[in-house]
Amino acid sequence: ASPLDKDQMQGLRGVREFLKVRTSYDVLPLSFRLVVLDIDLLIKKSLNILIQNGIVSAPLWDSRNSTFAGLLTSTDYINVIQYYCQFPHDLNQVDQFRLSSLRDIERAIGVLPLETVSVHPMRPLYEACRRMLKTRARRIPLVDIDGETGRETVVSVITQYRILKFIAVNNEQHTMLLKKPVRDLGLGTYKNLATTTMNSSVLDVIHLMVKYNISAVPVVDQDYRLLNVFEAVDVIPCIRGGAYDELSSTVGEALSRRAEDFGGIYTCGEDDRLDSIFDTIRKSRVHRLIVIDDDCRLRGIISLSDILKYVLLFGEEDDTIRGGSGSLR
Ligand code: ADP
Repeated sequence: ASPLDKDQMQGLRGVREFLKVRTSYDVLPLSFRLVVLDIDLLIKKSLNILIQNGIVSAPLWDSRNSTFAGLLTSTDYINVIQYYCQFPHDLNQVDQFRLSSLRDIERAIGVLPLETVSVHPMRPLYEACRRMLKTRARRIPLVDIDGETGRETVVSVITQYRILKFIAVNNEQHTMLLKKPVRDLGLGTYKNLATTTMNSSVLDVIHLMVKYNISAVPVVDQDYRLLNVFEAVDVIPCIRGGAYDELSSTVGEALSRRAEDFGGIYTCGEDDRLDSIFDTIRKSRVHRLIVIDDDCRLRGIISLSDILKYVLLFGEEDDTIRGGSGSLR
């Protein structure tokens, strides 16, 4: 192996060791706020609460049984929209849907319910990462048992973004060894990209996201130059207050409704190296990187799960999930 390869492997091993000795709890800031929504809340109202709090997801609480009832994310709203498209005459009913109806909506439109995975906050962070990759969850709730009442409590939620940020901030001595260019690593997706244009309708993009099971679609012009990225969370302002008719507006109009503090989109080139991607993650709120060429033409997309997968699994002999009941051969 070349010195470059050696360094790269040493860096990866370092990061993996780090993830094994730290817990999910370590990722949490000293002080934070957690918005938990009761499943009896109207879906319509939940939208406003998310917008007011500047968040895009929240754990759900079943107060009748005092249990954690899963995670509300933009996928749930996209399901509601699909339901509305399939049963357009049910608008009154859609208006009255509560968060507890989300499972019925999934069933009605025939999507598989997302696995409600959670991790204990004191388990190694490595485990949370492996579980995220296995279930394709972009975020995972930390659920603990209250010592006094014996009941479940949701401590917080950690996302792929938070974990990569935690690695970037605390592990520079290892991430700086990752000097192989993105091109050589095959990091990301470069074929069959789902793209859209400014004049497409929001509904068309939503259908694309559902079809590809992705949460972001690059917006390009007629020369395939990157203009913007439509994200699943951009759907939320479009249906604020239960106004589903805004879904027929264009991608361009929808993007103009973004919050003022929108963090922007991040790009990189195929010659960029993973260490510089970690630098970007350290400094900014990155949710994915769009790969472009020198003319700003779209080449590919690197999602946080692509990065996490590479960092955790590349070169591992055993690609099955360790722990649990799974046997290691
Ligand atoms: P995201 O949440 O950014 O959509 P995911 O982790 O769901 O990312 O991505 C799953 C896979 O789909 C990744 O390998 C990613 O590279 C790929 N992917 C993401 N966006 C697109 C797109 N617009 N077109 C094609 N593939 C994509």
